[in-house]
Amino acid sequence: MEAHRARKRFGQNFLVDGNIIRKIVAAIDPKPGQVMVEIGPGLGAMTRPVCERIDRLHVIEIDRDLAQRLREGELASQLDIHEHDALKFDFSVLGDDVRVIGNLPYNISSPLLFHLADHAERVSDMTFMLQKEVVDRIVAAPDTEQYGRLSVMLQYRFECSHLFDVPPGAFRPMPKVMSAIVHLRPRPAAQLDAKDALLLSDIVKAAFGQRRKTLRNTLREWLSLADWALLGIDATRRGETLSLADYVRIANFCADR
Ligand code: SAM
Repeated sequence: MEAHRARKRFGQNFLVDGNIIRKIVAAIDPKPGQVMVEIGPGLGAMTRPVCERIDRLHVIEIDRDLAQRLREGELASQLDIHEHDALKFDFSVLGDDVRVIGNLPYNISSPLLFHLADHAERVSDMTFMLQKEVVDRIVAAPDTEQYGRLSVMLQYRFECSHLFDVPPGAFRPMPKVMSAIVHLRPRPAAQLDAKDALLLSDIVKAAFGQRRKTLRNTLREWLSLADWALLGIDATRRGETLSLADYVRIANFCADR
């Protein structure tokens, strides 16, 4: 087969380091019978070792040439190939308890994570390679530079853990930045205590929309100074100082009215 030329617009950096690939697949630990989907299988660096451990694998690949290669390749009989944009893919067609994996295209990682968060109730866990900077944002604690909307909304839906870093030399072509593996496990429904998840999302979006502004300004659409006093939160603070529990409390206060 002719060599594939990496397409920048699809964020193509292919894993070539065998040790790193083994380490990632060991962290995923695929087991026979599990329903698993890989986003962006590319040339199959992770697809191949995963298929050694399970019988069938769904793959979602946007690049027509790469999807065709997979159809013609040695793994074809084990794959359900969805030639599709993962951002628009309806993950509910895969059923329940789906394990999601992927070395994600960095240019779409945040919207893709928000899209997947919407399907969290059907997901059993997700293991992704992302830009390290994005993983740092996902697991960030309040009052740090990395803490933002992505941290609050993903930590609301998932238990998030940073597993390990992956250097640029593990890929071809080499990306300019460090990468990292993150593991996301959906929280049980009983722990999702926002009465209106959409309202929580809107409030968090507004609170981090203008980072320099105080809560009094960014959330004035929902809360007066008297409301802040009732909540016992100083309205001159900024969004990045509030914990996930604070945001849930604010959203529930607004939902109750
Ligand atoms: N998994 C391979 C590896 O580790 O070598 C490839 C990883 S590469 C960083 C990202 C892959 O995602 C590419 O195969 C790319 O074509 C695919 N991709 C990019 N955007 C996509 C999208 N919106 N939906 C599905 N796949 C996409």
